[in-house]
Amino acid sequence: MGSTATRELRLAALNRLGGKCSISGCEWTHPDVLEIDHIKPVGDGKLRISNRFTYLIILKMTHPEDEYQLLCACHHNLKTVRDLEDILEFRAQTRGVNDLQSSNKGSRSIDCQL
Ligand SMILES: [Zn+2]
Repeated sequence: MGSTATRELRLAALNRLGGKCSISGCEWTHPDVLEIDHIKPVGDGKLRISNRFTYLIILKMTHPEDEYQLLCACHHNLKTVRDLEDILEFRAQTRGVNDLQSSNKGSRSIDCQL
């Protein structure tokens, strides 16, 4: 019964965040495919945010969309990879190496086919 309540909390939180993948052009709305993503990378990336506590926070926030967004599973994976790339790029730049991928930086798009 606890899991049912959590599922209902999750659905409410998903609805609060718009109920669909936030990548423009992506039409995924199925709750089992959608994941809640912290817009800014959290800590060292080990912190899992998709839990009951997160749902409660989202439901209490006035503007949860400022901190959280919905991504389908595919786009969430891609964003996680991209965040990691950004971190590696930042590290490289602080070492004085800045010729890294300046060519495709702006044009890198997330393309998702499920
Ligand atoms: Zn998507």
